[in-house]
Amino acid sequence: MTHPAQPKASHFINGAYVEDTAGTPIPVIYAATGEQIATVYAATPAIVEQALSTAKAAQKEWAKMTGTERGRILRRAADIMRERNHELSVLETYDTGKPLQETLVADATSGADALEYFGGLAGSLTGEHIPMGEDWVYTVREALGLCVGIGAWNYPTQIACWKGAPALACGNSMVFKPSETTPLCALKVAEILHEAGAPAGIYNVIQGMGEVGGALVTDPRVDKVSLTGSVPTGKKVYAAAAEGMKHVTMELGGKSPLIIFDDADIDNAVGGAINGNFYSSGQVCSNGTRVFVQKGIKEKFLARLAERTGNAILGDPMDEATSFGPMVTENQMNIVLGYIEKGKEEGARLICGGQRADMPGYYIHPTVFADVTDDMTIAREEIFGPVMSVLDFDTEEEVIARANDTEFGLSAGVFTNDFSRAHRVIGQLEAGSCFINSYNDAPVEAPFGGVKASGVGRENSKEAIKHFSQVKSVYVRMGDVEAAF
Ligand code: NAD
Repeated sequence: MTHPAQPKASHFINGAYVEDTAGTPIPVIYAATGEQIATVYAATPAIVEQALSTAKAAQKEWAKMTGTERGRILRRAADIMRERNHELSVLETYDTGKPLQETLVADATSGADALEYFGGLAGSLTGEHIPMGEDWVYTVREALGLCVGIGAWNYPTQIACWKGAPALACGNSMVFKPSETTPLCALKVAEILHEAGAPAGIYNVIQGMGEVGGALVTDPRVDKVSLTGSVPTGKKVYAAAAEGMKHVTMELGGKSPLIIFDDADIDNAVGGAINGNFYSSGQVCSNGTRVFVQKGIKEKFLARLAERTGNAILGDPMDEATSFGPMVTENQMNIVLGYIEKGKEEGARLICGGQRADMPGYYIHPTVFADVTDDMTIAREEIFGPVMSVLDFDTEEEVIARANDTEFGLSAGVFTNDFSRAHRVIGQLEAGSCFINSYNDAPVEAPFGGVKASGVGRENSKEAIKHFSQVKSVYVRMGDVEAAF
């Protein structure tokens, strides 16, 4: 019998599901059991061509609609997503293995927020009138054209919406390629957008590995590329986009610092460290994986952290009581277990976890290392799993320098009850998305993105509009033209 997660076809192009079984088969594995639940096929060159030509052809008419009309469609799609939240959350859980406890509140709902927010903004995208004496200049905010979105595997619904909603609000069309690890959810986003009234060809989804992503990025018809992925992939995609002078948004990896001063509320700080390391089993780009704890509260902090981490419920992700799911794939699990071994070898003190869970699926116990030093591998490289490194520090000046000593710059957090210190420290941290007495909140109203190797551009908020549109300026002369001859 066909599994309920099996999509109708691999791709969604020009308002309909499309199949081409000549592409490389991509198995979809449910991380909680290891069983294959679906198969999709990577896009063949013919499918890539169909998606790009369709999106190119549809964009101009879409851009001609008023922003209010486009926005209405996005807002209708948001309503449909919320009505189907349970069904979409179950699919997200099949796609990623993340527990339903999380997917019910963080995925389709976050996607719906983006559709609603950018749907609301679409009608207010205007230019300026700039007086020049008798003459004047006016500016027009125009769509970029055909945009490509490429997703990572940790938030497949959210990423498809965070890229699609602002792109469509501005009058662009999109071809979206989900991660080959989680190909299912973006198809539902496309289906819902078209059900809500998006014209055929405006939002298309095609499957495939890096090769298909590469074919999209290098196509001369494409005006913009928005990638969510790792730094090495980001460097390749950015370079390829530069060849064609395309606009880019790069949402990449991190190794973010979370700094806890000794005057902080310990339970709130422990809560922040848990949210910033163990949500989605640690598979979150903005995680605060270097937890710097001031020496005075170190042992108290570690004791409370170990106690609360022991309350994590590993189990069937479809059971709403489960609070901690598996790694997305066996490969990701092995990568993370490799880092855990490195941590032990290099002399970090294991506080809890540190091994695979004795159950089917790709579960690793939430792991905390203490006495981690700046040079250890687990403190330098992005692990993308449930491994928290706790480092000690003495002074504010010292911790700021150590926090910034990394190629990454996605996020940073500070816990302290001294508000001047909180703002002073945040002001000096090299990161794009920061938190004071909190960690990992990502509302659509707030800009999200990184500095340094963690990325270029911002998603969400009004900032995203700037990255999916461009400004045309028009000088209007009222009098005669003066010329030298
Ligand atoms: P990845 O870099 O392996 O792949 C990302 C996407 O790029 C996939 O769809 C992949 O098929 C595609 N791709 C790979 N090579 C390509 C190429 N040469 N040209 C075009 N496309 C190509 O990343 P992943 O393993 O799927 O995701 C994990 C990474 O994503 C982590 O580093 C994480 O930090 C990052 N991430 C960042 C954010 C953010 O918003 N900053 C959010 C989630 C994940």
